[in-house]
Amino acid sequence: MNFSEFNETIKSQLNNLTSHNRLPHAIIITGGNEELRDSVADYLCVYAVCSEENKPCYNCKNCKKAMSHIHPDISYVQGSTKSKNLIYNKEVMEEVIGDTIIIPNESDTKVYVFKDVDEKLPVISQNAFLKTLEEPPQNILFVMTCKDASVLLETILSRSTVINIQKEDEFSTEGVSIAEEIALALLDINEYKLLSATYKVNNKDSFNQTIPYLKLLIRDTLSLTVGGDKLSNSSVPEKLTRKLTREKSLSLLNTIEKAQRMMKSNVNQNLLSTWLCSEFRRITWQQ
Ligand SMILES: [Zn+2]
Repeated sequence: MNFSEFNETIKSQLNNLTSHNRLPHAIIITGGNEELRDSVADYLCVYAVCSEENKPCYNCKNCKKAMSHIHPDISYVQGSTKSKNLIYNKEVMEEVIGDTIIIPNESDTKVYVFKDVDEKLPVISQNAFLKTLEEPPQNILFVMTCKDASVLLETILSRSTVINIQKEDEFSTEGVSIAEEIALALLDINEYKLLSATYKVNNKDSFNQTIPYLKLLIRDTLSLTVGGDKLSNSSVPEKLTRKLTREKSLSLLNTIEKAQRMMKSNVNQNLLSTWLCSEFRRITWQQ
């Protein structure tokens, strides 16, 4: 693993996460490619078990074992061998949950890494996992990686910290421009602007190019309203903070995630863009 290869977006997210010297109990790493997601997961594992003040030191016994993937407090959870896709079925989850109450061996924290949860963690297992995420045992860190977090249950997402490692230059110029147009149209008193901007995402390609960046803009707006940092280079989030409260940004993010799930289930795309427009309008302008 090569930590120096993290781009600025990832570094700033990791810095945000660790700024209080304490990690959240559940982290979902999404976007980017598999290798990069695994590197971020490995980084979090090393960070979580490091015994030095300045984490991760890469030098203490815990760091060295973690880097060699032999730390006894870090489990790379294996899916069930009974299914050919090695899914995290109910039995696997029950075993993990049972294990979380056993105290760590050599460090202060126990880490469980689940890979490809968008494909390998079915809804029934997500539900089995919920209670543990709600009331996590002390000193446990769950790290999950996936290509697309939008397919996970909202209840899982809202109880986890999501790190999106998609690089800005992975967004297409057209997608960025339409996403900014939609975001700015939210502020316009004239509803037609929002209608014509959202109409541009009425096919699968433009939707998939545009919506992730729109999500990033709203996420940045939310972050600014609570005193955090931006991940994008866009100037739009500052403008959005004039109109969007924390609650409105959260509702918009939920709506966008719902739209992404609807897109996956092959809804009528014209209807979806019209629905998006009316939801965006309702959320932004409600008192
Ligand atoms: Zn260390």
